[in-house]
Amino acid sequence: MKTEIQLRGANCPVCFESVREMLLEDSRVTAVHSSFSSHCMEVEHGVMSAEELIGLLHRNLHGVEIAGNGEQVMVDVEPSIGEWHCHR
Ligand SMILES: [Zn+2]
Repeated sequence: MKTEIQLRGANCPVCFESVREMLLEDSRVTAVHSSFSSHCMEVEHGVMSAEELIGLLHRNLHGVEIAGNGEQVMVDVEPSIGEWHCHR
């Protein structure tokens, strides 16, 4: 099964990379194609459901925004499944 996920707002490169590595180390995942610049991932997975995949991404990714007072704040990322044609 292949799932394409749009990760709108996932602008933290450190988390993006560590989530990618986490997926690659998961035995239920067979391949990961991702593009940080387009904020998307294409994941090939076996027994892991798309819901589990989304949950994992939601828990481990965040975005960074500048708040009204000029401070950096971490914001949640809401992953969404679709046909995103995720390529570098
Ligand atoms: Zn981060």
